[in-house]
Amino acid sequence: MFICTGYAAQSADAPLAPYTFERRDPGPSDIEIEILYCGVCHSDLHTNRNEWHNSVYPTITGHEVVGRVRRIGSAVTKFKVGDLAGVGCLVDSCRTCENCAVGLEQYCIPGATGTYNSPDKHTGKMTYGGYSKAIVVDDYFALKIPENLDLAAVAPLLCAGITTYSPLRHWKVGPGQTVGIVGLGGLGHMGVKFARAFGAHVVLFTTSESKRADGERLGAHEVVVTREPDALKPWAGKFDFILDCVSADHDINAYLNLLRRDGTLCLVGAPENPQPIAAFSLLGGRHSFAGSGIGGLPETQEMLDFCAEHGITSDIEMIAIDQINTAYERMLKSDVKYRFVIDMATLPAA
Ligand code: NAP
Ligand code: ZN
Ligand code: ZN
Repeated sequence: MFICTGYAAQSADAPLAPYTFERRDPGPSDIEIEILYCGVCHSDLHTNRNEWHNSVYPTITGHEVVGRVRRIGSAVTKFKVGDLAGVGCLVDSCRTCENCAVGLEQYCIPGATGTYNSPDKHTGKMTYGGYSKAIVVDDYFALKIPENLDLAAVAPLLCAGITTYSPLRHWKVGPGQTVGIVGLGGLGHMGVKFARAFGAHVVLFTTSESKRADGERLGAHEVVVTREPDALKPWAGKFDFILDCVSADHDINAYLNLLRRDGTLCLVGAPENPQPIAAFSLLGGRHSFAGSGIGGLPETQEMLDFCAEHGITSDIEMIAIDQINTAYERMLKSDVKYRFVIDMATLPAA
């Protein structure tokens, strides 16, 4: 065991504050990463504030982790000390069920171990994530980080990147298709970048007039500001695929009605409250309403390699760790362009 510093919430309404805890020393197949940057996902906020009603305190969130390997176990061959490495949303799974067997560890049947707020098989406590100085992980669950990209801007690829890449690939988004991205936050802005890179005609739906120009710069062919009256009307029946990246209550039916026959709306946003779906939004055009969760290890590596090849990273705003509570308030106002990333040099070591 070694002592590690981090930032934790002690209850749903407490601000995050410095916290010291123990991490395991690396076992034979583990690596220990000194965390240099950690992205700030809206899931971190949902978890710290117990909005999914499953948080066990203290919570140490953060699952967009990049850093350098500083210790390795005796059996590790994938990394050597000094290499860049990343950790996304998963740190363990059963490795044998039918979903793990095909690299879809996020859908592990007995249940994957999340990077935070999951029962930790090693400590008997909960897993603690990337708002911390170091992390220890089985090397299978660590990603190779491309050397040619800005490291801080790579961090958000570990969740926002793979969460949008995976459904766009699964539903084979590409040339000739019209694809909608709903919500220009951390996930949404990566969705716009990937949908554009895959060759689709990309339409961004945003509630924020101020994001119109950014939407176009990030790759949207058209931007629809949904607060304008009748904004969605011209788009009825036009979409092959829509990726809904919204973190709060909103009318999903309005978007289901924009699908063509046999079109799919896939939810990746995970609002606290259930969102009602009208039967006629689905059966009118044989529409599919789907969901997608993060991505497995092989596809996450594929996504990182795709980003390295195409020069894709997240648009980030760097913060010091003591700015995290203010950053959350800004995130709740949809005021983040487009991902906060914590500079871990601002967190004192133990
Ligand atoms: P984020 O950066 O806060 O972005 C959310 C965006 O949703 C906002 O920027 C805003 O975009 C839009 N929005 C917010 N409130 C809205 C409202 N009341 N009505 C309509 N639109 C609204 O959050 P994120 O990190 O991208 O995460 C988005 C959601 O995905 C969260 O619920 C998160 O937990 C979830 N998530 C799911 C997975 C998964 O595996 N499926 C993985 C990661 C995150 P505009 O300003 O453009 O309207
Ligand atoms: Zn996330
Ligand atoms: Zn499994």
